[in-house]
Amino acid sequence: MLNLKKCAKCGLGKDARGDFYWDKRRDQPHCWCKACLSAYNCARAKANPQVHNARSKAWREKNPERFREIALANYYRDPERSRRNRVWSQFRVEFRELWEAQKGLCACCDEPMLESGTEHDSVVVDHDRACCPGKRSCGKCVRGLIHWRCNVLLGHVQDNPTRLEKAARYLQRWAEKPTREVLEPVLMGPDFEVTS
Ligand SMILES: [Zn+2]
Ligand SMILES: [Zn+2]
Ligand SMILES: [Zn+2]
Repeated sequence: MLNLKKCAKCGLGKDARGDFYWDKRRDQPHCWCKACLSAYNCARAKANPQVHNARSKAWREKNPERFREIALANYYRDPERSRRNRVWSQFRVEFRELWEAQKGLCACCDEPMLESGTEHDSVVVDHDRACCPGKRSCGKCVRGLIHWRCNVLLGHVQDNPTRLEKAARYLQRWAEKPTREVLEPVLMGPDFEVTS
């Protein structure tokens, strides 16, 4: 028999056993349904991530065994999702460490980066394309944090240092010599007339 209970938040009648968390302090089902409670908790965590993260960290440290149980249960429920979460949280830690080690400077050009966003100067995680040709790294081939623009540059020269050295010399040559002198013998044949 389905025992219906009315959620105090959304007002819907729901399964008293399956759709409500147990409120341990009051020793009775929670007055809000699972969906309402998790929506509320998610919104609260999003509004103030620092406070939320500190609180969860403190709880994990205080209840290591319970935390292990929950992590294990999550793993058995959905191994793929649990793996993704672990990789992602590991990545966030590494990103922080890299950012601090590099002091927010680009590992490629040494100039300051924007910590977020999609600007030219925004940070991206650079990885070895010989290992992972796509946009994502396996995690082992991360080379460092660099500008989006520097990443595009490395992509265009296909990670070839010789090409960059030649490009640098090319720019140097133009910087040192007046443009015309270099241009004329190369691009202007005998039939070419300067009209201006
Ligand atoms: Zn509800
Ligand atoms: Zn850069
Ligand atoms: Zn890789």
